Amino acid sequence: MYDFAYHRAKSAADATALLKGKSEGRAMAGGMTLIPTLKQRLARPSDVVDLAGAKDLAGIKAEGGGLTIGAMTRHGAVATSTEVKSTIPALASLAGHIGDPQVRNRGTIGGSVANNDPAADYPAAVLALGATINTTTRKIAADQFFKGLFETALGEGELITSISFPKPEKAAYVKFPNPASRYAMVGVFVAKTAGGVRVAVTGAGPGVFRVKAMEDALAKNFSSAAIKDIKVPTDGLNSDIHGSAEYRAHLVGVMARRAVDAASK
Ligand SMILES: Cc1cc2nc3c(=O)[nH]c(=O)nc-3n(C[C@H](O)[C@H](O)[C@H](O)COP(=O)(O)OP(=O)(O)OC[C@H]3O[C@@H](n4cnc5c(N)ncnc54)[C@H](O)[C@@H]3O)c2cc1C
Repeated sequence: MYDFAYHRAKSAADATALLKGKSEGRAMAGGMTLIPTLKQRLARPSDVVDLAGAKDLAGIKAEGGGLTIGAMTRHGAVATSTEVKSTIPALASLAGHIGDPQVRNRGTIGGSVANNDPAADYPAAVLALGATINTTTRKIAADQFFKGLFETALGEGELITSISFPKPEKAAYVKFPNPASRYAMVGVFVAKTAGGVRVAVTGAGPGVFRVKAMEDALAKNFSSAAIKDIKVPTDGLNSDIHGSAEYRAHLVGVMARRAVDAASK
């Protein structure tokens, strides 16, 4: 680890002020990704601003028929929240299958979404549910937020404050987890809303993406049979020690059909 200045923020505004003018400054949520990155000397921030004391960044609120979840809300809190379980049960279930209990007790929704790991679970929910990412300066629609491998629309010093999820009519998330980390080899979140159907895939490519062919077929007929013949192209899909692009493309179809079946129950 390289030396850096450590700061404790008391609020989102305090964190923004602490990061101001520090182009090499980094926010820290639960440190689940940031700390290993620092330990491996893959990052050299001048300043680390700890958000753990920023109480205005945590918590779950029912709002506009949906939910607004504070950036510092831990995965474990989302998984066990009665509000989330009753409004968007698929989101509670997703959170309950992230990593292990240690990760769920430290990792946060804001850290996960800001980090945009290509195998992370939350980005699939955010994209499929058409969520809005609320930041210290603006609101960003999910379709405009994820920019590719570990890249997002967030600007320098801009922090996620919360994420607003509309309540879907039906939704489910099914993943094929890597047996060691529980990260998604492939995860598919399917959501049916008044506006249509959205299918978002994580783990398969360099970033979360939607499958339009499945969305169109499911909008006409929300059943797993409707997408059984849809093949996902292998172009651009991940091929690594965990699985080939062909294997991942196959898994997308299987996970999507299981998600539709689960959402239909
Ligand atoms: C062993 C292990 C297993 C895991 N398994 C899974 C899994 O199965 N599925 C899954 O989805 N994830 C998994 N994760 C990731 C984990 O769930 C965390 O969400 C992720 O590591 C981010 O951690 P964090 O919230 O502590 O953020 P940090 O590590 O503190 O921060 C991550 C990045 O986000 C930035 N950041 C943090 N908060 C904000 C904010 N509010 N606004 C803007 N930027 C911010 C930081 O500057 C940093 O760049 C796993 C992690 C580990 C270590």
